[in-house]
Amino acid sequence: MRILEVEGLNVRYGVVRAVTDVDMHVDEGELVVVVGANGAGKSSLLRSIAGLNKSRGRISFLEKDVSSSRAEQRVRAGLSLVPEGRHIFGRMTVFENLQIAHWGASTDFSAEVASVFELFPRLEERRHQTAATLSGGEQQMLALSRALIRRPRLLMLDEPSMGLAPKVVAQMFEVIEEINRSGTSVLLIEQNARMALAIAHRGYLMETGRISGGGDAKAMLEDEQLHEAYFGKS
Ligand code: ATP
Repeated sequence: MRILEVEGLNVRYGVVRAVTDVDMHVDEGELVVVVGANGAGKSSLLRSIAGLNKSRGRISFLEKDVSSSRAEQRVRAGLSLVPEGRHIFGRMTVFENLQIAHWGASTDFSAEVASVFELFPRLEERRHQTAATLSGGEQQMLALSRALIRRPRLLMLDEPSMGLAPKVVAQMFEVIEEINRSGTSVLLIEQNARMALAIAHRGYLMETGRISGGGDAKAMLEDEQLHEAYFGKS
């Protein structure tokens, strides 16, 4: 099944065209990455899919047109975004952050907390610690857990590796791969193109607001032109 389908999406901020005529999709079970330079429009694309940005075009989620649904309705339908910069409640504990994230969901909170703590044992050890005192990596894990606790059908991640130490970045990508393997479809945007493509099934390349390429993730990894522009030397 096609979990997400975006057709003719346009986002403008005044005279700035951030996203132009974007068509893209995610199939059930897929891990799809959108790579592209700073300012290419990746965040604007994700925020529009989540309903946080005004946009023109058609967005279908689980084969329903959600283009005019509010952000909360999209979350309730199973569309979760972990925004850039984490957005956790710093003065609250890990546990309280998870409670708030689960609020209004019909599933059993204790069971969901248990499954999140299974994925992130470190958060269980720190469940009574205030979120602001967690390390950067732990805060990112908490942000991810806040989305997972609602069992989304599609998990969207905006630059999850941002600001993390290289070792923690590698762990983060492993966790994302594991979440996808256990059945959650994932749409990831990343500047860390090489690592993201290494775990993805498919990728899109975004340049100045447009999708300029894409396809099988392994083929993108081997593409020499992409190499020069986005992967840096290694
Ligand atoms: P980054 O990785 O740096 O976040 P990005 O690919 O996610 O980049 P966007 O954040 O979507 O790109 O930005 C796309 C373009 O839209 C940029 O030129 C940016 O300056 C502009 N832009 C983004 N948000 C706004 C806003 N609220 N008002 C005006 N222009 C904006």
